[in-house]
Amino acid sequence: MSNLSHILYELGEDRSLYSNAVSPPVYQTSNFAFSSVAEMRSRLADEMDYPFYTRGHNPTVAILRKKLAALEGTEEALVFGSGSAAVAAAVLSEVKSGDHIISVLNPYSWTNKLFNRYLKRFGVETTFVDGTHPENYKNAIRPETRILYMESPNSFTFSLQDIEAIVKIAREHGCTTILDNSYSSPLYQNPAGMGVDIIVHSATKYLNGHSDIVAGVLCTSRKKAEHIFETEYMNTGGIISPHDAWLMLRGLRTLPLRMKQVSESTAFILQKLESHPRIEKIWYPFHPSHPQHQLAQKQMKAGAGQFSLSLKAKSPEEIDAFCNQLKHFLIACSWGGYESLVFPVCGLSDAANYHSSPFPWNMVRFYIGLEDSEYLLEDILQALESGI
Ligand SMILES: *Cc1c(COP(=O)(O)O)cnc(C)c1O
Repeated sequence: MSNLSHILYELGEDRSLYSNAVSPPVYQTSNFAFSSVAEMRSRLADEMDYPFYTRGHNPTVAILRKKLAALEGTEEALVFGSGSAAVAAAVLSEVKSGDHIISVLNPYSWTNKLFNRYLKRFGVETTFVDGTHPENYKNAIRPETRILYMESPNSFTFSLQDIEAIVKIAREHGCTTILDNSYSSPLYQNPAGMGVDIIVHSATKYLNGHSDIVAGVLCTSRKKAEHIFETEYMNTGGIISPHDAWLMLRGLRTLPLRMKQVSESTAFILQKLESHPRIEKIWYPFHPSHPQHQLAQKQMKAGAGQFSLSLKAKSPEEIDAFCNQLKHFLIACSWGGYESLVFPVCGLSDAANYHSSPFPWNMVRFYIGLEDSEYLLEDILQALESGI
């Protein structure tokens, strides 16, 4: 915990460089100038570590990179303009035409489209496997397999992968492991400690935590980070702006408080809803009914603020009515901010097609924000009892 305090409140912050300001400045500049050609030449030789041009290095972003790498326990972190940019950089950096990827079934929608649609144009094929059994990854391995991709847990059914078992398989076959750790944040799951090579986050969610920026993070070894910096990072230029980096630094300061609050409120609310007659099923990795509850307890530190409920409803219209009846949950995608949200699976498609979703049509995904837990519970109860 004291290490966490050091990371969040001290690491990377050298106030003597900026007039002893308590909060670091936003270096809102595209460019940096030098006192001599010799100095410029030396800085250009290490664009990843020194300010030269903001697409590569910016001092505000650099503070954030140090903190994020330390939080994940990796040597390096790169920060992107979105989680999807971080996912794409991680994946693209490891493949060439003719290579093969094995991904968990139903990853985040745009990750799915990267594998299913985009990478196909470049002759990179993906096999999707049920990630609840590590041997499914093993059985799908081919000589040209480069990446074993995980998202544990995902954010609708909260299905997990056994991270250590899949890392072992990857090492036996010379594959790289990539894991999307957005659900847990670095505080509730430490993939690097379990041997994962590249960890990605949508920092739009918990890391920033205030629903005011879109950002992404990639944490890995110095060697892999240097390779990614020289290719995907600098070539696609998907960087975070200095101002958004500053907002994320501010958001990070309260990460432990926010995670604790959403975790405790969620546990409280689920315990109260457990035996409600209108609820068919609770989906939450730290609920005893979750089929991988033991694995969750083994590889995660706690549950976060997202869960799903399958409601006893006769039609998607009843699900719509339930969601519309909630007063303190915004109907919206995303999660990880201060505000509570609700997102029904049947909202993913029009009524005629709702059966085509990979998730049950009567499933409603919740995100518990920072509001008082009793206030939120009462709202869910009144919507359940409104006679849908
Ligand atoms: C939101 C999300 C992403 C994409 O991140 P953006 O910041 O929206 O680009 C990737 N993975 C997961 C699990 C997400 O929830």
